[in-house]
Amino acid sequence: MSDKNQKKYRKIKRSHIGSSIIEFVLFSVLAAMMTVLAGRSFASYIVDSKIAAEYDRIKYMARIYDNSVRNKDNNIYNLLVEEGRDYIITNSNNELTHVNGINTISDAGGYVKLPGYDEKVFVYRDKEKGFIYPTTSEKLAVDYMGFRDWASDEANEEATDLEAAAEDDTMIMLPVWISVDLEGGNSHLIGKAVFSASKRDINMLMALAGAMAVLTAIILITLLFNAIKNVVRQRRMISVFFTDVATDGHNWNYFMVNGNRILKRSCNARTKYAVVNLVFVNYRNYCVAHTIADGDKALCKIYNAINSFIGRREMCAHTSSSSFALMLRYNNQNELEARLNKLIDKLSHVDEDHIFDFQAGVALTDKTYDEHGNRIKNKDISLDNEYNNASAARENLSGSLDSGIAFFDDKMIEEQKWLDTVKERQQAALDNEEFKVYYQPKYDPQTGKLRGAEALIRWNSPEFGLIPPGRFIPIFEKDGFITSIDHYMISHVAADQKEWLDKGYKCVPVSVNVSRAHFIESDLAEQIRDMVDKAGTPHEYIEIELTESAFFDDKKAMLTTIGKLKGYGFAVSMDDFGSGYSSLNSLKDMPLDVLKLDAEFFRGDTADSRGQIVVSEAIKLGKQLNMRIVAEGVEVKEQVDFLAGEGCDMIQGYYFAKPMPKSDYELKMDAPEE
Ligand code: C2E
Ligand code: CA
Ligand code: CA
Repeated sequence: MSDKNQKKYRKIKRSHIGSSIIEFVLFSVLAAMMTVLAGRSFASYIVDSKIAAEYDRIKYMARIYDNSVRNKDNNIYNLLVEEGRDYIITNSNNELTHVNGINTISDAGGYVKLPGYDEKVFVYRDKEKGFIYPTTSEKLAVDYMGFRDWASDEANEEATDLEAAAEDDTMIMLPVWISVDLEGGNSHLIGKAVFSASKRDINMLMALAGAMAVLTAIILITLLFNAIKNVVRQRRMISVFFTDVATDGHNWNYFMVNGNRILKRSCNARTKYAVVNLVFVNYRNYCVAHTIADGDKALCKIYNAINSFIGRREMCAHTSSSSFALMLRYNNQNELEARLNKLIDKLSHVDEDHIFDFQAGVALTDKTYDEHGNRIKNKDISLDNEYNNASAARENLSGSLDSGIAFFDDKMIEEQKWLDTVKERQQAALDNEEFKVYYQPKYDPQTGKLRGAEALIRWNSPEFGLIPPGRFIPIFEKDGFITSIDHYMISHVAADQKEWLDKGYKCVPVSVNVSRAHFIESDLAEQIRDMVDKAGTPHEYIEIELTESAFFDDKKAMLTTIGKLKGYGFAVSMDDFGSGYSSLNSLKDMPLDVLKLDAEFFRGDTADSRGQIVVSEAIKLGKQLNMRIVAEGVEVKEQVDFLAGEGCDMIQGYYFAKPMPKSDYELKMDAPEE
């Protein structure tokens, strides 16, 4: 979940930034292209209209020069001077050979005396463009077209001349040095032309510049507007992505994205974090008793109360209908537990008219271990995992509806691993007959004689040794495998009884536990009958034990099955009578044969008079309902004596015998006469 969400979140962030970048690039390219296009057409317009005539004049000078050279006319430089134009002639080595008639051979880059300049001027040549740039300072080494700052000091003199020559509406005059090939193409005549721009030209230029500026502004504003729109849209999407519909607060996505960030940045030896799964226990019932809208209102109140409870760099989110996720800082577990109790107390009174219950599961990030038992580094802690662990801890409380706090610990990881192992091996274990039937005898307290036994399962695993039922029966009950186990036990007990009867043992009834999960099968009584019949065992040797909790299910179906079982001649007993559930009602309705008093009656102070009164009255009650009474879990003699005095029919407990394998149990039965 977390990784997926992080990806989604990054996608939202990237998608809009991405489109902004694409738009920006597209618009920029467009703007650049338009600028270049406009610049080009303007430049060609200038060149065509303004420079062409000047170019012709300089070409004409080049022709004069070529003719004079050809005719060996020594008057050559006077002719050129008559043209009234400054010029330079360079030879094939790019050396200056003539400057306005004066022979001044010089380096291509160097100081030369130029007309119009008092001092020597630095000259260099742009070979590619064919222009020569006379200058006395860097700032005069002007741009591409060879324009020179007309207003600069060095050029003032020429400016005045040119200005005088200019027509009235001429606004700008600039010297432009134009290079023309001389005959042979190796030497060049570079003549000074004058570029003049009229008011109309300036206006056009201004209009063009204005248009370009407006266009650029439009593009920039569009880009900016678009970027703002994208940021707003992105913010809105992120807010939707992070907002819980029911409470208007933060949701699971927010918790994951920001929680992981906080864990990576701030979780260290000094700052420890606890991840909490907090469940509003009454939520469903509250919604049923009121409306879903009322339920949502309650969730809102709860969320706000949690939100005002948490501090800086802590988080809370509403993750699903009744669940909230919290990330809290803590120093030690006791302090954290006290704080959570305070929160639960506050939340339980969040509604004036109701008292709510909350269960919290807590995972401590400094107690996170990998599957090999190594401590996970802070930067590798996954919030998803921590929350899952916190939820698993909280699920341990879900048997009750009261408020409570449970901490996730390593034992829970072990439990989970064991659960997986059991589920993986159960079928193979059954096929390989790894399950063994143990028998725990039941004795008559008056006579000390064997009156019955209970069949109890053991798993003799080649890998794990002898496993007690408490380690696997609850798992089988949850995954449904218990029905196969019940069949297995009934078949084996029936077969054992038949074998003993055939061998001549004096057999007593053996009770077999049938899980409540099995009772939903409508033909359960027939199934049991068929299994016992298959072994050929008379029905009076098999007794069926039902736990008290089983009586809470479908009463009618239960009555039918019990009726059928009794009809087939099986005795039916109520197991664990008095352990937690009120079964007096069931006792009234169910025609049962045996009442098994729960072992809890015989724990603690054996001489407790109140306990004795309860046991004594329970026995009387059973007797009046024509039931036989079995006391379970009896370990001490005083209890045996007391129960004998009260008329208890049988005692099943360590005082007489623990559950034992078949071979040992055979020794407890009256052996066949030789
Ligand atoms: P249960 O049916 O109430 O079985 C009685 C349990 O109390 C047995 O534990 C037995 O060993 C124990 N016990 C008997 N006398 C004493 C005593 O004096 N002191 C103490 N401390 N304990 C005593 P076990 O065999 O561990 O079985 C535990 C539970 O597992 C059973 O409780 C029953 O609910 C379930 N179970 C055992 N075998 C099966 C079976 O074959 N099928 C089903 N469905 N459940 C079974
Ligand atoms: Ca039992
Ligand atoms: Ca029992």
